[in-house]
Amino acid sequence: MSFIKDLKKLLIKQPEKYPHNRNLMNDISPLIEYPYMSMMKSEISSTSAVRAHNLSLTLNLIRDRGSITRAEIINLTRLSAPTVSSLVNILISSGFVREGGIGMSSGGRKPVVLEFNYEARMIMGVDMGATHITIIIMNLKGEVKKRFSCHMDVLSKPAESLQVIHDAIIKIMDEAGLVESDLLGIGFTLPAPLEDEKTGSFVTHYMPAWKDVRCIGAIRDVYKDVPVYFENDANAAAIAEQWWGCGLGYENLVYIKLGTGVGSGLIINGVVYRGFSGTAGEIGHTTIEADGRSCRCGNRGCLESYIGIQGILSDGRRALANDPNWAGRLDELDVKGVVKAAREGNRECEKIITTAGWYLGIGLANIINLVNPGLLILGGDLADAGQMLLDPARQSLMERTVGFNTRTDNLVIGELGSNAVAIGAATLVITNAFNETSIYNSLRDMEQNAVING
Ligand SMILES: [Zn+2]
Repeated sequence: MSFIKDLKKLLIKQPEKYPHNRNLMNDISPLIEYPYMSMMKSEISSTSAVRAHNLSLTLNLIRDRGSITRAEIINLTRLSAPTVSSLVNILISSGFVREGGIGMSSGGRKPVVLEFNYEARMIMGVDMGATHITIIIMNLKGEVKKRFSCHMDVLSKPAESLQVIHDAIIKIMDEAGLVESDLLGIGFTLPAPLEDEKTGSFVTHYMPAWKDVRCIGAIRDVYKDVPVYFENDANAAAIAEQWWGCGLGYENLVYIKLGTGVGSGLIINGVVYRGFSGTAGEIGHTTIEADGRSCRCGNRGCLESYIGIQGILSDGRRALANDPNWAGRLDELDVKGVVKAAREGNRECEKIITTAGWYLGIGLANIINLVNPGLLILGGDLADAGQMLLDPARQSLMERTVGFNTRTDNLVIGELGSNAVAIGAATLVITNAFNETSIYNSLRDMEQNAVING
């Protein structure tokens, strides 16, 4: 994708982030304020902290823009010319940045354009869901290069699941022709709230077989030195849509994952909101019928008991019990099968989807009234139902949101489909590896050489 196309996407699709830039295509440079620039105003106490900050700032600026001249970096960061020159030399040595063509001159010699090398390292995302494992390798531009996916009873088979992940990592790296040093890091998502993002320990309330199991072992058995980052699946999908999909530019959005469980990822003021102990976003267990269906959490009337996969499938099996197409194989029925039957005219299956949409709207109205997000994004298998799900959900949420919050144009189906969680997992690597401490530590040797030589 060209720089101009990237830029147009940035300006047109980032209304919340850059509201003042929507029609200023020709004069954006001085106006864009990058989030990490605000850190420049904070107290920075040591020389190495200053260097780390400046290195991260410069790298992220070049990565965000795709291509930029040294003069533009100086203008945007207010760093001195010798400092920018030194930092750029380090980044060129690292392979993350390279010199490209000749830029426009504002008088005098035409400047060399610096380009971010989106292929400098690859990143891996491991999406370990309740009933599937998906692994992707993508470049630093969010483009998926390789994908592995299989069905797996993850909930009850921890050892087998981790073995599948271990073997798949080796296989997918081999197919991509990559070795350990080509990887910037691995992101790993879990179908449960995290207790600790650093160790990947998670709440095993719904996954008792996983008590005391450490996921990181599956990766450490393959690679000892690759950084690994953990996240909850719905949070990762929210991050993915915010970085690369329909949430681009939204600082406040909610991703609702309609899978085996019903969870949500909340991005509030640009960052994932975790709550007090990491369990924020458990929208599936909010009550929508005071004395309704029993739920796997032990309560009654939870949203998940109406729109979670188990509920949809038990209704679907009843609806298709006399359908000759499903005779003898109703055990194989999945949500896609119910959606397909509904699309092909089965009125009962259509009713299952529209009823789920109606209940979903109640849950969405609760989210809207509570956090006032700029965008609500639906993902997971049930989201494949598209308009059949969206229409009743919009109707239902319209009836339940208070007037000043009632908008239905901000409820959409996610752009990244079934790859959203894995892409979000991989994106964790970018958000972590390019922060001040990580990038400084990984490029410290080059930095020291530059200081000695400079
Ligand atoms: Zn529940």
